[in-house]
Amino acid sequence: MTNRQTMLIIEDEKNIGNYIETILISNGYKALRAMNGMSGLSMCTSHHPDLILLDLGLPDIDGMDVLERIRGFSGVPVIVISARTQEREKVTALDRGADDYITKPFGSEELLARIRTALRHSNQAGSQKTQTQTYTCDELTIDFEKRLVTLEGEDIHLTQIEYKLVSLLAKNAGKVLTYDFILKEIWGPYADTDNQILRVNMANIRRKLEKNPAEPHYIYTEIGVGYRMKEG
Ligand code: CA
Repeated sequence: MTNRQTMLIIEDEKNIGNYIETILISNGYKALRAMNGMSGLSMCTSHHPDLILLDLGLPDIDGMDVLERIRGFSGVPVIVISARTQEREKVTALDRGADDYITKPFGSEELLARIRTALRHSNQAGSQKTQTQTYTCDELTIDFEKRLVTLEGEDIHLTQIEYKLVSLLAKNAGKVLTYDFILKEIWGPYADTDNQILRVNMANIRRKLEKNPAEPHYIYTEIGVGYRMKEG
């Protein structure tokens, strides 16, 4: 028997919960359902799911509170389900420990890709040794040990900051990283920086890596949130 991974869906809207459950089950996952925040928290402690899909707008307690309480005792991957009207909340959720977000309405392929990425990253976090030494995606290769970036076999010269940015995104490929997270990782928690410095660096990186910087192939902008690098 295969050990099917268990997903906990915390979502009060029946139709959306049913939709997600159907996708999960037909793709070999086990699904648990909670209709509100408190039962979600209790199922999280009693069933130890492998991943949680968390709606932000819940009838009893705020989804953000649920997230914070989960993070108080567990590092389980959490994907936040947000509505279009919750743009700010999803950024806050990411900064407070959510692994990713998905905006309603979403398709099955998008949901499954987000789940695979979150599970992969949580597995890697548990076994640092197996973390890969290279990132390869289409024509782009990054060798983290040699700090070497090549595009179509040609060395690409990046400044130190540009390299740090690209390697941070590549090590988290598939996952959205918020502006705040990136700024803290690259310039440190106390640096006097803002998103502008990030935009300038990203524009330079795209000029070097992308055939058409206006329609990036490797590093996508998640408007109002941050950046996401394509998975290799
Ligand atoms: Ca809801």
